[in-house]
Amino acid sequence: MSAGGDVEKVVIVGSGPAGWTAAIYSARANLDPLCLIGVPRTDPAPVLPGGQLMLTTEVENYPGFPEGITGPDMMQAFQKQAERFGSRVRGVDVTACEFGERPFKLTTSENDVVLAESVIIATGATANWLGLDNELRLATSGGGVSACAVCDGALPMFRDQPLAVVGGGDSAMEEASYLAKFASTVYVIHRRDSLRASQAMQDRVLSNDRIEMVWNSQVVDVHGEKMIETIELEDTQTQERRHLAVKGLFIAIGHTPATSFLEGSDIQLDDEGYVVVKGGSSHTNLEGVFAAGDVADPTYRQAITAAGMGCQAALDAERWLSEH
Ligand code: NAP
Repeated sequence: MSAGGDVEKVVIVGSGPAGWTAAIYSARANLDPLCLIGVPRTDPAPVLPGGQLMLTTEVENYPGFPEGITGPDMMQAFQKQAERFGSRVRGVDVTACEFGERPFKLTTSENDVVLAESVIIATGATANWLGLDNELRLATSGGGVSACAVCDGALPMFRDQPLAVVGGGDSAMEEASYLAKFASTVYVIHRRDSLRASQAMQDRVLSNDRIEMVWNSQVVDVHGEKMIETIELEDTQTQERRHLAVKGLFIAIGHTPATSFLEGSDIQLDDEGYVVVKGGSSHTNLEGVFAAGDVADPTYRQAITAAGMGCQAALDAERWLSEH
């Protein structure tokens, strides 16, 4: 159980840009936040405290870093800034939440219970991967495999090169259209012969001369030592295999918000598992429980938008605490 039954004013769950920004703001507001930053996991895909940026090589679109910064360096700087103002940090996961009465109860992976007057959920979302060994190896080593074209697509190594996007939904269409501005050719690899994406997004892709559809195909392996060289495709109807030379592979097969620990807590999630927040704020359906960043954002999913939402959540929590 919680040490001595102490009740925290604000507990922040998660340690990406949203979590650390919420910590910076609430620490500076003298709320003495406790940050539960998670524990590293590798199965089925790598997840680290610090979130998706820990798997990102260069971040070039976050304002204030004209030369760019690596994702891990950026998260280390966020943490340092949060700790400078007194944020306390514990490397534990939250495994269950009870929001029925205050103080709220958060059970940790060390089997103790943290008591809290307010909670900010900032656990993010993880990109879905195909689950191929070489895919994850090249994704984590900057080898030209990525789950975010908007984050990585503009890097010089992808300019005027053949690239591939996997998926048939709106994300894949958006990523393909974005990459077509830099690439020589963008192949969209889809496992069926019709797209899931909205008609408008489909039309944009299908009418783009630089985008080539590769229907009924699955990526079954990724080849290349340091950098991706070819992808191995299998025809989903004939099972025939072939290699396609590309300099970049962008996986756009959906995201999974990290909300399984909220099961049974009465917090409202949408059909895809994202936390529902009220009109432009960080308020959830439960008083005193706030959400920020990708866990509550199926649309933008950028470091800068997550940081902005973290700031909102800290301000919302501060106001709510002073009113209650
Ligand atoms: P999604 O709609 O779930 O589409 C995922 C795509 O990936 C599907 O085409 C699916 O194929 C494919 N896929 C899934 N697992 C796969 C696997 N293991 N191997 C190969 N292909 C696989 O996801 P999303 O595109 O990320 O979109 C999520 C939500 O955000 C949607 O509601 C979307 O409308 C919305 N969104 C909107 C915009 C926009 O309007 N600007 C932009 C992005 C996203 P199947 O089709 O065969 O299942």
